[in-house]
Amino acid sequence: MRADPEKLEKPPSAASAIEPLIAARIEAEGPISVADFMDMALGHPEHGYYISRPSVGAEGDFVTAPEISQMFGEMIGAWLVDAWMQMGQPETVRLVELGPGRGTLMTDILRAAGSWPAFRAAVSLHLIETSPRLRQAQFEALKDYHPTWHDVLAEVPADAPCLIVANEFLDALPIHQFEKAGGRWMERRVAHDKAAGRFFFTLAQPGFDVAGVMPPNFLAAPDGSVFEISPATLTIAEQICARVEQGGAALLIDYGHVEPSLGDTLQAVSRHAYADPLAEPGLRDITAHVDFGTIKVLSQPRARVHGPVGQGAFLASLGIAARAEQLRARATDKQKKDILSALHRLTAASEMGALFKVMALTPLAGRLNVSGFGEEQK
Ligand code: SAH
Repeated sequence: MRADPEKLEKPPSAASAIEPLIAARIEAEGPISVADFMDMALGHPEHGYYISRPSVGAEGDFVTAPEISQMFGEMIGAWLVDAWMQMGQPETVRLVELGPGRGTLMTDILRAAGSWPAFRAAVSLHLIETSPRLRQAQFEALKDYHPTWHDVLAEVPADAPCLIVANEFLDALPIHQFEKAGGRWMERRVAHDKAAGRFFFTLAQPGFDVAGVMPPNFLAAPDGSVFEISPATLTIAEQICARVEQGGAALLIDYGHVEPSLGDTLQAVSRHAYADPLAEPGLRDITAHVDFGTIKVLSQPRARVHGPVGQGAFLASLGIAARAEQLRARATDKQKKDILSALHRLTAASEMGALFKVMALTPLAGRLNVSGFGEEQK
C-alpha cells in the first residue's frame, strides 16, 4: 500500500454501516481481539471494506506496485516463466493469484508471458478473491484468460503443479496484538465508548499462551512493547507450503520485516492518507506488516526459502532498469519522466524498494535456481 503521508485525512464520505454491528458485538461479548475487529471491518460479507469499497487504484484508497507501472507485472511474469521452465515446463500449470485486486498484476504477467506461447498454453488461471466487487473487476480485466475464482487456496485442483503469486495480500490478514504492561504480556483488545461513539484499545488477559508463540528474547521486553502475530497468515503459509511440496513455486511480495520484531504496525489508509485504524470500520483499509521471519522459520522444514530480499534489489536483478530504458526509447517526453518516476517508486530504498520484501518458496528437492535472489541462492 502506498499512501501519501503529506495529505491530510479527508472527511468521511459515508457512514460506517458496520460500526453498529461491531459495537453490538462488543456490548454482548466484551472487548474483542484486534483480529476479530479486522475480520469484521475488512471481511464482513455485507459491509466489510473489501466487499464494499473501491479499494485499489487511483480512485480507491491506495495504490499498489502493479498500479504504479506495467514494469512490475512484467518482471513478475518473467520470473514465473523462468520458474516454470526450471520445473521442466509442465504441460499444465495452475497459475494462482491470492487477492488479485483489480487484476492489473495478472494482466501484465500474462501479457509479458505472451512471448512464451508454450507457457501461456500451459496456464490454467485461478484467482483467490473474497470480494464480489473485485471479482467483477478481475473478470473485466482477465476474461480472455478464462479464470476460475475460489474463496480459498485449498479449492484449487491439486492435479498439476502450482505457481502462486501474492502481492499485498498477506498484509490484509488479521493480526493479534499483545502489549507489555506492568511487567506482563496482555492482549490488546478493542472496546467501544458508546457515549463518544468511538472504538478504543484496552488490555485484557491473553486468550492464549503468549509465551508459547513469542520468540524467547521478547519475553523480557520493557513495558509498552507491542508484539503481533497473524495466525491467518501462518495458516495460508502452511497451505502454500503444501502446494509447493507437490511441485510448484510461490512468490510473496509485501511490506514487512525480515526478522520477527516488536512494534505496533497496525495501520489504516483512506483516500491515500494514513488514518486511525479503529475509526470508520468498513470504510478504511486496515493492514499490518508481514512477519516474513516467522513465515521463513515455519516454512523451512517443508520448502526451500529464497529471500526475503528488498523489492528494489529483486526488481533490479530481474532487469527492471533495462526494461525502463526500452520503454523510454519509444515514449514521449512526459511518458519518459513518468517511467523514471515509476522506476524510482518501485525500487528506491526511500520508496517501496526496501520496506517491501520478496520471498519465494520452492520444493526442497530439485533445487530450482529461481531468479532475483542473488548469487548466494545459486
Ligand atoms: N494484489 C493486488 C491487491 C491487493 S489488496 C494489488 O497488488 O494491487 C488485497 C486483495 O486481497 C484484495 O483483492 C482483497 O479483496 C483480497 N483479500 C483480502 N482478504 C482476503 C481473503 N481472506 N481471502 C481472499 N482474498 C482476500
